[in-house]
Amino acid sequence: MNTGLQQESVLTSEEPFYQTLGNEETVFRQAWQHGMPVLIKGPTGCGKTRFVQHMAHRLNLPLYTVACHDDLSAADLVGRHLIGAEGTWWQDGPLTRAVREGGICYLDEVVEARQDTAVVLHPLADDRRELFLERTGEAIKAGPNFMLVVSYNPGYQNLLKGMKPSTRQRFVAMRFDYPSAAEEQRIVEIEAGVESKLAAQIVRLGQALRRLENHDLEEVASTRLLIFAARMIKAGMPVREACLACLAEPLSDDPQTVAALMDVVDVHF
Ligand code: ADP
Repeated sequence: MNTGLQQESVLTSEEPFYQTLGNEETVFRQAWQHGMPVLIKGPTGCGKTRFVQHMAHRLNLPLYTVACHDDLSAADLVGRHLIGAEGTWWQDGPLTRAVREGGICYLDEVVEARQDTAVVLHPLADDRRELFLERTGEAIKAGPNFMLVVSYNPGYQNLLKGMKPSTRQRFVAMRFDYPSAAEEQRIVEIEAGVESKLAAQIVRLGQALRRLENHDLEEVASTRLLIFAARMIKAGMPVREACLACLAEPLSDDPQTVAALMDVVDVHF
């Protein structure tokens, strides 16, 4: 079976570094304690996934991550019958495993998934906290250790794929954004292992690039890209080459826009 599904279950031994940006940890803990599902919205590469990994570690819970895509169906989440040498058998999907065994099921970019996933998510996300396996007729009540977390980027230009209000209304929702300059500098320093002077310079560049948001750019420079650039510079790559590969080219396919981004780079280094 190849569904293109990315899935992982991790109980990390080392706490992933996470720079707290506001009251997100308190909100998440409260939601967890009260059995409420959480929705995190925010731009690409701003720390949503890292935050969920951090909270899974803090709460000592296994984490099942599913990177949603436009072909992802309810069966990919719930499970399916497979045919083996000894006949047909049922294999749980990541959502079912998390419900049965306890843990956080994190659906990244949930709005990309097919509409039929809403049918299984709704009863799990409201008071029922129940997963119904249509194919086997089994109904599984989620225990106290199960938590549903979903994320999406509201900036993506796809009107059809916004989250339906009837789904959104079942979640405790948090908005993430790129960190402040001081916070982002610390993140770049720690994640790339660079000195504060270089981290500060890269963050200033990142902020200048973000101000170009409306100049034909679908997305702005993420914290992730700033970390990539810092890592390459640390490894000895000339700054201009690192910024071209990590900051300008990933943001645009249009050569003129890339050149304009590089003009901003040249002002900063
Ligand atoms: P997304 O919002 O797309 O899920 P990620 O959580 O994968 O973004 O963040 C991308 C990278 O940026 C992470 O791997 C991490 O290195 C870094 N990062 C972003 N925000 C933070 C943060 N608040 N604390 C620590 N690292 C962060």
